[in-house]
Amino acid sequence: MTRRRRVYEGKAKVLFEGPEPGTLVQYFKDDATAFNGEKKSTVTGKGVLNNRISEHLMNRLTEIGVQNHFIRRLNMREQLIKEVEIIPVEVIVRNVAAGSICTRLGLKEGNALPRSLVEFCYKSDELNDPLIAEEHITTFGWATPRELDEIMNMSLRVNDFLCGLFTGIGIRLVDFKLEFGRYFNGDEMQVILADEISPDNCRLWDLETNEKLDKDRFRRDLGGVEAAYQEVARRLGIMPEGGPGDLKGSTAIQ
Ligand code: UDP
Repeated sequence: MTRRRRVYEGKAKVLFEGPEPGTLVQYFKDDATAFNGEKKSTVTGKGVLNNRISEHLMNRLTEIGVQNHFIRRLNMREQLIKEVEIIPVEVIVRNVAAGSICTRLGLKEGNALPRSLVEFCYKSDELNDPLIAEEHITTFGWATPRELDEIMNMSLRVNDFLCGLFTGIGIRLVDFKLEFGRYFNGDEMQVILADEISPDNCRLWDLETNEKLDKDRFRRDLGGVEAAYQEVARRLGIMPEGGPGDLKGSTAIQ
């Protein structure tokens, strides 16, 4: 196999140059990190599951017209995506109080918010992804007012759709993080959804028991991380080809 050029390595994913111009290969690792990289471990099979879960959710979003970077899954751990210029803003959508908003505002975890709330953080590990306002985004030119409008609309649309999808499989979508990028197609530029949507960047609670089916199991040392991710995949109807026994996936990445 020819050696591919590594374009970027993040905490949970690696991006390689794609087979055609304007494409990248997104490789999902088993590495898990929390608290801005202070806590590190590996969760066997996580990359395989996130690859599948993100594929499924991006495909469903494509079906309802939410443009995103996903092209097709290549294998157990890799997917082909459109190359975008990432907008350095993390968009957090919340339906229920959990995580940082509870400490920040003294809210009780688990209380439904009066309405869906969109927050923004500046994407910077160095600064620990600080919370920012829309004004910062436009003042510093991270996105134009028009792009921000588009991002806000898309985020709320994704939230409405995913809330329904997860409710249908007995899961409460508590909150999640999205990233967007600029996709250049000839003379046209479009803001599209990028990154991934998986239990790594969503809080997913069982509707009946409130059991956590997401990365909080890792963050809070609750155990059963891979079992929780598997349960999400199972309910979505997308367990990997070989079933739960086949979660290792290929480790050869080049
Ligand atoms: N999140 C993420 N990456 C980040 C920060 C947050 O994917 O760098 C997700 C997180 O998994 C959760 C939501 O965004 O679903 C809200 O996270 P929060 O601000 O509560 O931060 P946390 O408590 O995870 O530090």
